[in-house]
Amino acid sequence: AAAAAPQPPRMFKLDPQSELRVEVPPDAPLRVRLVAGTAEIFGTELPPEGWVPVPPRSKIAIFTWHGATVELDGVSESEYTSDETPMVIYVNTHAILDARRARARAAAAQGGDLEASQGPRVIVVGPTDSGKSTLCKMLLSWAAKQGWKPTYVDLDIGQGSITIPGCISATPIEKPIDIVDGIPLEMPIAYFYGHPNPSINPDVYKALMKELAQTLETQFSGNAESRAAGMVINTMGWVEGLGYELLLNAIETFKANVVLVLGQEKLWKMLKDAVQSKPNIDVVKLHKSEGVVLRNSKYRQKTRSFRIKEYFYGIANDLAPHSNVVNFSDVSVYKIGSGHQAPRSALPIGAEPVADPTRLVAVNISTDMVHTVLAVSYAKEPDEISSSNVAGFIHVTDVDIQRKKLTYIAPCPGDLPSRLLIASSLTWYEAL
Ligand code: ADP
Repeated sequence: AAAAAPQPPRMFKLDPQSELRVEVPPDAPLRVRLVAGTAEIFGTELPPEGWVPVPPRSKIAIFTWHGATVELDGVSESEYTSDETPMVIYVNTHAILDARRARARAAAAQGGDLEASQGPRVIVVGPTDSGKSTLCKMLLSWAAKQGWKPTYVDLDIGQGSITIPGCISATPIEKPIDIVDGIPLEMPIAYFYGHPNPSINPDVYKALMKELAQTLETQFSGNAESRAAGMVINTMGWVEGLGYELLLNAIETFKANVVLVLGQEKLWKMLKDAVQSKPNIDVVKLHKSEGVVLRNSKYRQKTRSFRIKEYFYGIANDLAPHSNVVNFSDVSVYKIGSGHQAPRSALPIGAEPVADPTRLVAVNISTDMVHTVLAVSYAKEPDEISSSNVAGFIHVTDVDIQRKKLTYIAPCPGDLPSRLLIASSLTWYEAL
């Protein structure tokens, strides 16, 4: 692409309840400054003073409740203001959730049971590009601003806003999400599925959801504060067929009690009918914002790669990953779920083959692994891998078959925290 033309700094006067929508190019820096009034980016307030760098490739809205003047400096791909936003509906939704959190906390203080002391478990569903991740961010940041520590659960293996794609993960949100740094990475719980698409092995996806839900359940039972703050769960944009089935499964597995449906009447109706028989689940239809930027599958594929790159190099390309070499014999690589059943010949006579969807399969290290991501498991023994969360990820940069050595980069120096690794189909090429 041609180099973007320089743009002089410019001011925007925003009326109450309007927003400035900006798309940042991949390679040119852009920054924003609050000049007067108050404004927020997806639920996080702009500081009263100073320039805030906006990460490359991001598409943002600077929204003001009471009016503001903001200044942009740098190159943008597009910038325009709009006074048609669903923000009032979104913040009203937040207010309802907040009241439920307060009720849960009060119940806990009076020694109420687990049911009464459970705050809202909100699941956000809708087709791709309906603004799910953005709504999650707003709900989390608004809650955190009021002192709650809600848990963010991301089931979207296609994009993955907490760790890297291919993972389902959860992390507590203790303060409004940082405009530059995004979701905090200090203590995520991540389970590695290893593919960007659930149809490759939906049973493994379901099994990992179950593990994550159980882990959170245990944490909540010992922590009344997290329990009352509840969860905000982000989902995949696949809402038909198997995608729909997995949504229902997620609602059940995480015991969601509020389902927010963005931008699709049909999905709302289907889910409403499906959970009808279950008491205490509200299925709410919400408008999608016209500001949500559509991304085609090629673009999504690209952001997927960038998310992987960011894990190793930082959002602002400011981290230096560490390169390391291990002998093949120092590590064991597995994949979860074979998709194949055990051959009849391997079974005792008369026994029927049972497919264990989460069966562990040892994988030989080969040059096919170059450019792929491997997860480092917390498991102590191989048979714990499919029920264990992961410590982090490495990126394979070279496989030397002759010398039996594997070269990788990792975000931290030193030895791997475990020798048990999980293979994946996620790739990232240095050239990007
Ligand atoms: P989904 O999670 O449903 O796929 P996202 O929430 O990720 O959708 O939104 C898609 C893109 O649109 C993101 O890059 C997001 O930052 C951007 N976006 C969302 N809302 C707005 C808005 N009001 N103005 C500008 N960009 C927006």
